Amino acid sequence: MGEFRERVFEGFRGDEVVELASKLIKIPSVNPPGDTSEIAAFVKDYLEEEGVAVELCEPAEKKVNLIAEIGERGSDRVLVLNGHLDVVPIGDRSRWSFDPFSGEVRDGYLLGRGASDMKGGLAGIIYAFKRLIKFEDQLRGRLKLVCVADEETGGTYGASYLVEKGKALGSSVLIAEPTGMNLINVGEKGAVWAKIVVKGVPGHGSLSPFIGDNAIVKSTNLIRELMRITEMRAELPRDLIDVAEYSRNLLGSLVSREASKAIDHPTINFGIIRGGTKVNIIPDRCELEIDVRVPIGLSAAEVTSRIREVVEKYGEVEFVNVGEPNYTPPNSEIVKVVEKNVKEIVGVDPKPFLEWASSDARHFRRANIPTIHYGPAEMEGIHGYNERVKVEDLIKAAKVYLGVAIDYLT
Ligand SMILES: [Zn+2]
Repeated sequence: MGEFRERVFEGFRGDEVVELASKLIKIPSVNPPGDTSEIAAFVKDYLEEEGVAVELCEPAEKKVNLIAEIGERGSDRVLVLNGHLDVVPIGDRSRWSFDPFSGEVRDGYLLGRGASDMKGGLAGIIYAFKRLIKFEDQLRGRLKLVCVADEETGGTYGASYLVEKGKALGSSVLIAEPTGMNLINVGEKGAVWAKIVVKGVPGHGSLSPFIGDNAIVKSTNLIRELMRITEMRAELPRDLIDVAEYSRNLLGSLVSREASKAIDHPTINFGIIRGGTKVNIIPDRCELEIDVRVPIGLSAAEVTSRIREVVEKYGEVEFVNVGEPNYTPPNSEIVKVVEKNVKEIVGVDPKPFLEWASSDARHFRRANIPTIHYGPAEMEGIHGYNERVKVEDLIKAAKVYLGVAIDYLT
């Protein structure tokens, strides 16, 4: 096996990984609108050069996903390498100090929208997959490459669709989302998004608050009560106690001590509020939109019933998005295989951690597939300005993906 690994690694070319990532950045696949037809066609051509069959799948117009598969036919040992083809919008162009779609390499960094999230990691898994095509006879099991659309807007026409249709199933999933070289993401919070309508009784503003029932004033009380949702405490599963402790410290050092509470408490964001018609009319309606994140150890149902309880006194609530928190046990095979390869190739001992935002991992975990994230990252520019990634990390990550595939499938 050592010999096989050596042979596969012999032809590994770091500059090819960088060139591929650069080409992916040059194809804007900004979401919204999330048109991935051009980038998917590019990846299809890139892989078909090596003689592998590639399937494109378009569940909604221009939301194009790509699937390719090699290895032992019929085996149920399947490693899925997954990444998303879409990126978030660039925002205010004048705040970038370089062209977000140049894909240029400067001072050891690859620059552009998606460099970290996640065309860098994506290039790594595509390259690792391509390297193994000519060795596919020697794989014990199958290697599946799944490049998806729609991640940045929830995955309905990407990972969620493919998992549901049985097109992206496997025995383990490695997602090349940005974590940084020394972290493995093993779990994430759930999300509850709700629209609330508070109703009041209108009247002449000149007699307020002695008449009527002001929906805006009522909403301020509602907000104060809903804020207490952050006091709900999660009962962590035993196998996550150390991982959660590590994650709190990590978030504490990355953001602030206060922010580290987000690991084991719900968070709540009042994102939108709309109310009132005119300054001298007592408003009879106020609408609020909230984004609550559910920690592992609490269920989305516990959180929605708490919200319902509070809102009942003021108005009505409609839940527009409900997702459970989810995780992969840190002693799973895929975690161990990634750890081993990161130690060997990157030379650091990576730590499993819990993420506060959500990703496509939830769609795979819902199908009971152990799923992790590992990928190159420079956190600052992600979803912001001047996104970039270290070329050196990009290459190391691609080597890790290749090593993981070899270990998992031999
Ligand atoms: Zn991402």
